[in-house]
Amino acid sequence: MTDSFAAGRAGSPMADSFAGRGIIVTGAAQGIGAAIAEYFVAREARVILMDLDADLAAATAAGLGENARAVGGDVSRRADVQRAVTACREHAGQVDVMVAHAGIADVRPLLDVTDEQWQRIFDVNVNGVFLCAQEAGRAMRHSGGGTIVVTASTNAVQVEENLVGYSASKGAVVTFVRAAALDLARHGIRINAVAPGVVNTRIARWVIEDPVLGPEYLKKIPLSRFAEPVDVARVVGFLAGPDSAYITGQTIVLDGGQTLGIPLEGVEVELPGQTRDPP
Ligand code: NAD
Repeated sequence: MTDSFAAGRAGSPMADSFAGRGIIVTGAAQGIGAAIAEYFVAREARVILMDLDADLAAATAAGLGENARAVGGDVSRRADVQRAVTACREHAGQVDVMVAHAGIADVRPLLDVTDEQWQRIFDVNVNGVFLCAQEAGRAMRHSGGGTIVVTASTNAVQVEENLVGYSASKGAVVTFVRAAALDLARHGIRINAVAPGVVNTRIARWVIEDPVLGPEYLKKIPLSRFAEPVDVARVVGFLAGPDSAYITGQTIVLDGGQTLGIPLEGVEVELPGQTRDPP
């Protein structure tokens, strides 16, 4: 076994730190991706923020300081992903971590989805993850290993109305991660996913800010709050670093307990034959 970052060798000077590591975060111009980039920059990593919105990515990177650089590009285009990998090598010497986070949602009923809408969801959410994992994986293979973290969603398992393309794409991502983990392990590369519930970013505001849907949705979350981007960033940091050195192919759900079951809001029931506890 190499003393690669993936192995997280105890006692290595880097074991507790991302300092100097080359990290790519896709979809990093705003929201969760920006929080993930900020998490790594705060730990002295050298971070490439890749995003379709090149101007916003540049502004976000500028706000994070000289260890952050922006690359405009579309994760569904191999040449763009390759540019991000090249930029990371130039910035940090190698690619140690790929966070394949960029993704899009589309809210409409199955019977209204067009071919183009379906194709775009899969191009970004599935093909983009494939391209990021493959291009980063090829770079990591030559530098002794690395880690890949992919953003899935609770929609991979707990589906909702009007999100058929999104849900199917995230289900594909979870299975991709399991299969990719088998192929990448021999190269010292781990790959895992995070599956957030509702996170307070622009793509979830239609739920969070709706005066009826927002409070109703909140009742289904045992921890009684929506996630903040930093909640996701911390789990991504765990999966990217040496503390998770023996975990691969897994999806960590962070949803405040939303997918555990059906909360009954303190309803008191008495089943036939059940004796009441003494007061
Ligand atoms: P966001 O829309 O605020 O940010 C997404 C960023 O990705 C944007 O800056 C956008 O420009 C960029 N992007 C979109 N398509 C791209 C492409 N083809 N190539 C490169 N960049 C692209 O949303 P967010 O919530 O911060 O992050 C979205 C990701 O998080 C998606 O993968 C989504 O499935 C996942 N997610 C979000 C939630 C949530 O409730 N917000 C929950 C679960 C999973």
